[in-house]
Amino acid sequence: MPTVAVIGSGPSGLATAKALAEHGVAPVVFDAAPDIGGMWGGPGRGAWSSYARTNLSHYSCAFSDYPWPAGTDIFPMRRSIIDYLRGYVRAFGLLPRLRLSTVVEYVEPAGAQGWRVTVFDGAKRETLAFDNVVVATGVFTRPHVPPFEGLNAFQGKIYHAADCYSDEVNRRNFGGKRVLIVGAAFSGTEIAGQLQEVAQEVTVGLRNPMWFVPRWISPWEGAPRYPADLVFYTRRPDNPLQTRPREYLRQIGGDPGEACADLAFDDLATAPLTVVTSDDFLPLVASGRVKAKRSRAFAFDEKGVLYADGSRADLDAVVMCTGYASALPFLCPDVQATLEFDPGDQLQPILTHKQVFHPKLPGLFFAGYYRGPYFPIMELHGRWIARVVSGEIPPPALAQMAAGVEIERTIRNRRPRPQFPHGDYVRLADGLAREIGVYPEGPEVADLAPRLAEAPVVSAQFRLRGPHAKPELARRTIASTPAPLLDGAT
Ligand SMILES: Cc1cc2nc3c(=O)[nH]c(=O)nc-3n(C[C@H](O)[C@H](O)[C@H](O)COP(=O)(O)OP(=O)(O)OC[C@H]3O[C@@H](n4cnc5c(N)ncnc54)[C@H](O)[C@@H]3O)c2cc1C
Repeated sequence: MPTVAVIGSGPSGLATAKALAEHGVAPVVFDAAPDIGGMWGGPGRGAWSSYARTNLSHYSCAFSDYPWPAGTDIFPMRRSIIDYLRGYVRAFGLLPRLRLSTVVEYVEPAGAQGWRVTVFDGAKRETLAFDNVVVATGVFTRPHVPPFEGLNAFQGKIYHAADCYSDEVNRRNFGGKRVLIVGAAFSGTEIAGQLQEVAQEVTVGLRNPMWFVPRWISPWEGAPRYPADLVFYTRRPDNPLQTRPREYLRQIGGDPGEACADLAFDDLATAPLTVVTSDDFLPLVASGRVKAKRSRAFAFDEKGVLYADGSRADLDAVVMCTGYASALPFLCPDVQATLEFDPGDQLQPILTHKQVFHPKLPGLFFAGYYRGPYFPIMELHGRWIARVVSGEIPPPALAQMAAGVEIERTIRNRRPRPQFPHGDYVRLADGLAREIGVYPEGPEVADLAPRLAEAPVVSAQFRLRGPHAKPELARRTIASTPAPLLDGAT
């Protein structure tokens, strides 16, 4: 069987390792960190806030044949993801495959011999040969702060969202302070809610209006509340999130302009559609406990911030909730160039076919390496890689891969850039499932037709048929997943 190095033991790396093992390929999984779990592992591991809950319900943060135990919180605390992943490692015998506390320092092609991989475990540096390499290092790697005029002159403290990882740290850093949070997306709104409990004043600065949707929503007026992901992610052709997004987002999340004029949309027709999960941001702004300030630009002087409208505010601290950049320092420069790697591109750092393959880099694969990775997609990437590596199916044809790279280039050049360049999660998942023969269709699943058409698309739907199907488990998981849009008409 071919040899495979998997770089990263976050959800993407573990799902890939499990899929490879399922196909009889024994990978070696390297991770620089001392424990599995990737960004869910704790402070300093990318985007992390240990005391926050997941944005998606656990039904969506799950792999196809490893459901969460009954009784799990619908939105688990983030640290629970680690327990879930540890259980996954145990259940599928992945422990012997892991080489933790081992940094992959360099990866370069070795011609017909595959790939040379140099690793360092703190004591020993070795160069190993592998037929294949899977990069599963995640896209939320390094805190990213864009250049702001005058920021160097600011005499207060400057933090990034990644620094706000516990109540204790927040109390110490922000107690009694006047704080500006730059960015009102997932981290900015969450951190605003946390800091307003300890800070003297919290202002959230944003450039463009956004929609704020709570974790629990009523899909239609008078309906019970369901996790938003279970309402959004269905195959219904009349899914209102696709057909009339702005009207629908206002209905389920409220009009941001009613909380504060600075959050109002000026022109619904042209504003980019940015959706943020937040339970308390709009109520906090409406109550005045958090201020929102819209500004085309943010500049700083010694004492505070200068807004584009000429107003200013004194500050003690700034928290940059300006996202994360990805990094591929271990890939040799030629490979980076072939991938058209742009570390400054937070949305689409590399150009690959379907986020997995590159026509000029046989034996190199990516798993979960796209903006907004969801568990089902990471797993489908891993399953596709496993089928190809094990020789069960051929890789896509060169011309197909080249066309795929061009599609990615078109997406990269699109202006204005969408919040998530690979957009519609359901279509993305279904497309991958078709590639590997696990799309739920045909006589084996005919009795499930209404559920498949209207129920949330969870990963178990991709274990109903095809290679390594586990139909009984998949059916049980699907039956136990609430299906809000089957409960009544919208
Ligand atoms: C704020 C925030 C909230 C999120 N909330 C959710 C949510 O609620 N639900 C959800 O499904 N998704 C959520 N996500 C998406 C999240 O990114 C994915 O769930 C997931 O963590 C991505 O997994 P990954 O394995 O691709 O990458 P990561 O989790 O980042 O893991 C990458 C691993 O690679 C290792 N690594 C990197 N470089 C090297 C090297 N050179 N050598 C060895 N090891 C290396 C790292 O140590 C790390 O362990 C959220 C993301 C963010 C930023």
